Amino acid sequence: MRSGGIWPIVVALLLAAGAILVSPLGSWAQAPAVKVTRLSDTVHMLRGRGGNIAVSVGVDGVVMIDDQFAPASKIIADAIAAIDDRPLRFVVNTHWHGDHTGGNKAFTALGATIVAHDNVRAEMIGRWFKDANGAFVASDALPTITFNDRISFHLNGETVEIVKVPASHTDGDAIVHFTGSNVLHMGDVFFNGLYTFFDGSSGGRFSGMIEALEVGLAVAGPETRIVPGHGALATRADLEWHLGHLKVIRERTLAAIAEGQSVGDFIASKPTRDLEEAFDGDYKVMAAEKFLRFVYVSLKADN
Ligand SMILES: [Zn+2]
Repeated sequence: MRSGGIWPIVVALLLAAGAILVSPLGSWAQAPAVKVTRLSDTVHMLRGRGGNIAVSVGVDGVVMIDDQFAPASKIIADAIAAIDDRPLRFVVNTHWHGDHTGGNKAFTALGATIVAHDNVRAEMIGRWFKDANGAFVASDALPTITFNDRISFHLNGETVEIVKVPASHTDGDAIVHFTGSNVLHMGDVFFNGLYTFFDGSSGGRFSGMIEALEVGLAVAGPETRIVPGHGALATRADLEWHLGHLKVIRERTLAAIAEGQSVGDFIASKPTRDLEEAFDGDYKVMAAEKFLRFVYVSLKADN
């Protein structure tokens, strides 16, 4: 589909720019650049202007999960060095979007090897990303190690399991479980307290999102600390609650499709009115209308 016309390219450009995912840039500009939260002796969460980052630090060096936008690389590198100044060894990309991979070039220059699912590398080839100066360029920092199902790291005193989940946000999503630290990074499969988004231009599916959240739920225990792709640090209960809401929305959408409602009538009926508050977190990534259109189109395509 990527070469099928102008729209996939426009969508990719908007995604690379973060324009769809991060429309309230104004409010982020005033926020502290990077907020660090310690989750265990080794694992920390970093929140900034793109997707949430997790880092593992310790005797074996530094490993990052996702690396946000290129213009933020220096601030992020400084924040990590302030936690632990040992060498950066690996960056794992949970998926290809520019707000999770934009720092690949800068962190490769610092010595990191980029690791991701096979489809992440394939999706990045031919896409355009914002460089450190804000110009659009083809990615020149692709993953050099890719996996097709799962891969494990054994470092900093624990096993870190990276597992591909069903095509959901994209066709290359993986979740990352720090087994000893009891921390789970869900990538953009999980937007905590926010309208979720899936990228139909690269294989994203709403039903896949529900399946992928179920994989995360099976991995998480009651005390697991969950790093969502966007939104605040979460618990297993938050994940379960979010999944429950998406299932309600799926049921209602499938019922509307079965009744023969058009997408316009479905949206006009405000089918998630009673759930609005639940999906209106500290900032709104996506309006209900846009979200419902994605859900309807994706579920209709499945049937
Ligand atoms: Zn994403």
